Amino acid sequence: QEAFEAMRKALVEVRAQFGRHYPLIIDGERVNTQEVIVSTNPSNPVEVVGQSAKAGIPEADAALEAAWRAFPSWRDWPQEHRSRLLLKAAHIMKRRQRELEAWLVYEIGKNWTEAAADVAEAIDFLRYYAISALKYKDGAPVLPYPGEDNEAFYIPLGAGVVIAPWNFPLAILTGMTAAPIAVGNTVVVKPAEDTVVAAAKLFEVLEEAGLPPGVANYLPGEGSEVGAYLVKHPRTRFINFTGSLEVGLQINEMAARLSPGQVWIKRVFLELGGKDALIVDETADLRAAAQATVQSAFGFQGQKCSAASRLIVVDGIYDLLMEEVLDRTEALIVGPAEENPDLGPLASQKQEETVLNYIEVGRQEGRLLLGGRRLEGSGFFVAPTLFDRVSPDARIAQEEIFGPVLSVLRVPDFDTALEVANNTRYGLTGGVFSRKRERLEKARREFHVGNLYFNRKITGALVGVQPFGGFNLSGTDTKAGGPDYLLNFLQMKSVTERF
Ligand code: NAD
Repeated sequence: QEAFEAMRKALVEVRAQFGRHYPLIIDGERVNTQEVIVSTNPSNPVEVVGQSAKAGIPEADAALEAAWRAFPSWRDWPQEHRSRLLLKAAHIMKRRQRELEAWLVYEIGKNWTEAAADVAEAIDFLRYYAISALKYKDGAPVLPYPGEDNEAFYIPLGAGVVIAPWNFPLAILTGMTAAPIAVGNTVVVKPAEDTVVAAAKLFEVLEEAGLPPGVANYLPGEGSEVGAYLVKHPRTRFINFTGSLEVGLQINEMAARLSPGQVWIKRVFLELGGKDALIVDETADLRAAAQATVQSAFGFQGQKCSAASRLIVVDGIYDLLMEEVLDRTEALIVGPAEENPDLGPLASQKQEETVLNYIEVGRQEGRLLLGGRRLEGSGFFVAPTLFDRVSPDARIAQEEIFGPVLSVLRVPDFDTALEVANNTRYGLTGGVFSRKRERLEKARREFHVGNLYFNRKITGALVGVQPFGGFNLSGTDTKAGGPDYLLNFLQMKSVTERF
């Protein structure tokens, strides 16, 4: 009750700050540009939540230069001090928790629960990477060798680029930024165009925590222009990207291609999409399976890389399970995010168009059981949608839709279910509901995904508990929130001195 009251108050206070302008931050300086990026409320798009300056090529150059200028001194900070600064940032975020949640409700249409999870995860990332970074400060042990003194220690890479998606505007952006800077790198941060305000809030937190100028630079801009330019830039040492498969593949190529006559090997980290499957067999706890299905498929309107978008059901339980899934899906309330419904709006008009297009495809490829339409209201509201009689090769069973659309596939037995589940180019999350130990064991060995869940929902990986990242075309399996994640942003140097 208290938390609800605090949230209501935060929503009112944040609304009073709508329309503010956020300049770029380069080298700690506020930089304005002629063009701006306007961020609107997807529950009611006539409302402008805020706007940022919009970087072009000169600003991108300046930001990378600033990051390189800041690098030597940040690199030489004692690790304990860098870690303490990130812990302080976590503390500030915690203090501003409700307010930050309210920004996410308005800027991207998360309901209160989803917004709270996003902010909590951002705090977890700051804490986890702050503590993990201490592991690397003393280097690694090496064997003694006669007549020589040998050591092996870690050094950061230099200046890199963070390019983030809109679907976890705070959590993912914070994690992707905190990790490289935790171990002494500096970054240029290119947030998603739809969530420039949330990103500006992260920078307010980092500044208040005392982050020196230039260590992280706030550079909203167009992905295909400024993002691509930063990726190709010869001074960029690493690219930390989370987003779609399509853009990820482009980045992978662009990172290797510099201007004529220049060569460089950049580290490229890609966290991409998914076509995640939940398998339910005839021995499953039916109610638990139905509940997990609905939560995994429709949380944040299905706009999560970890969302269930295929439900693979073994024959024997099909009718009973589907009845329960249908009932629960029908009961979901869709509405403006500030009213804390089960589902808010889709994030943008572009998202809405993509999803409605896929629904049209689905009508050709399967049987529409529920939803399948836009809902009344000024926001981008789409009804939670179920298709069954979907074949494993259908587009709606193969392509990431990134919306509230679940494709249901019926299979004769568990082994077929596993084959169908693996029949995708992605490999991010997956789940199995079964009471048969040997089937879970088989899935443990053969279900080829980075994050596998048994008898629970397949979303909601916790930092430090479930290292997150996928196989196949879901990315480079860098495992955010995992024990070795920070090694991605370090290189090892060995030094030998003869006695
Ligand atoms: P997107 O690929 O459209 O955009 C991501 C970022 O890339 C944005 O900041 C965008 O401006 C930038 N960008 C676009 N074109 C670019 C280019 N040519 N060069 C450089 N940068 C460019 O993705 P999105 O719609 O923001 O996010 C949704 C996608 O992200 C989904 O596919 C989802 O599965 C994926 N995702 C993956 C994970 C994960 O951990 N694996 C987590 C969240 C989201």
